Amino acid sequence: MNPFLPARIYTMEANMPDITTRDTVILGSGCAGLTAAIYTGRANLKPLVLEGHEPGGQLSITTLVENFPGWPEGVQGPDLIENMKQQATRFGAELRMAHLDSVDLSKHPIELRVGKEIIHTRTLIIASGASARWLNLPSEQALIGHGVTSCATCDGFFARGKEIAVIGGGDTAMEEALFLTRFASKVTVINRSERFRASQIMLDRAMAHPQIKFLTNTKVEEVLGVDEKDVKGLRIKNNVTGEESILPVAFMFLAIGHIPNASAFKGMVDLDDEGYIKTTSNVFATINGKILPGVFACGDIQDRRYRQAITAAGSGCMAALEVEKYLEEHGH
Ligand code: NAP
Repeated sequence: MNPFLPARIYTMEANMPDITTRDTVILGSGCAGLTAAIYTGRANLKPLVLEGHEPGGQLSITTLVENFPGWPEGVQGPDLIENMKQQATRFGAELRMAHLDSVDLSKHPIELRVGKEIIHTRTLIIASGASARWLNLPSEQALIGHGVTSCATCDGFFARGKEIAVIGGGDTAMEEALFLTRFASKVTVINRSERFRASQIMLDRAMAHPQIKFLTNTKVEEVLGVDEKDVKGLRIKNNVTGEESILPVAFMFLAIGHIPNASAFKGMVDLDDEGYIKTTSNVFATINGKILPGVFACGDIQDRRYRQAITAAGSGCMAALEVEKYLEEHGH
């Protein structure tokens, strides 16, 4: 028996089995959520996956994934996701194009509201990910996957021999700019202000690199190439002088931060100062530092460090195994 679960709740649950209560619900259908669905499906837990606002997660908006083990020639991100969905469905997962409206984690079973429906579940796997922050320019949105990307690890290889731009002034921007020098002939880092958020060591390293140039006080006004469906350059503006110019680049890498999709859980689980769900022993969600019974978090919503498809899949597997263990310990 889980020592963190109040005895009263345990007894109620054990004595009054509720057939409408699900064993597990998974929020999110990216790499973490779908891996959790495959594992809990194979464990015969009939998981319900609420696919969320961005079905398929970040992989569904990328192109070739070359670093996911098992595909020596690479695999298209959307194909990888589609395969995972088929695999999860084959093991009895129910995938629903729906998103969570609200949740009450203090109730047992946990109560979820999805539109007009109320869903009860003994365990919850939160895998709703983090979304890349975008500039939200119409031309940028039109060219995502066609030269506009937020994932240097995924798409850097395609920038071989090309001139590219990295947007942002934090550690991620410096790290990605340095990484992209392996492929691109020239990298221009565009920061909207004079001040950089990056740590001095990262900034110094990037500034010392001969292939990296910097534009400060500069804003991207438009990504050129919408008609050609391929980035042809950026129309940029100096925020101080107001001067506009064209920067001829073939790729725009966004590195202006991520937003964890955790707002629905505010006050119910511990979040770090950037809004990521805090976990202990990899996937156990906590409240006031104590394990929250039956609530697990995996993938990018609790990982601001690695953010890789394979690490998300790994933590999805861990969450699923902990769900199995938790249900077993509670007599289900
Ligand atoms: P960050 O530190 O929050 O920096 C975000 C950058 O994007 C800032 O330069 C910000 O500009 C800019 N930005 C935000 N919104 C923008 C917009 N709409 N238009 C243009 N620019 C915009 O984010 P991060 O670089 O992803 O880093 C996140 C955390 O991870 C940090 O704590 C960082 O230290 C850590 N990290 C560490 C490493 C490492 O140690 N190797 C590597 C990567 C990340 P303003 O400054 O003007 O707001």
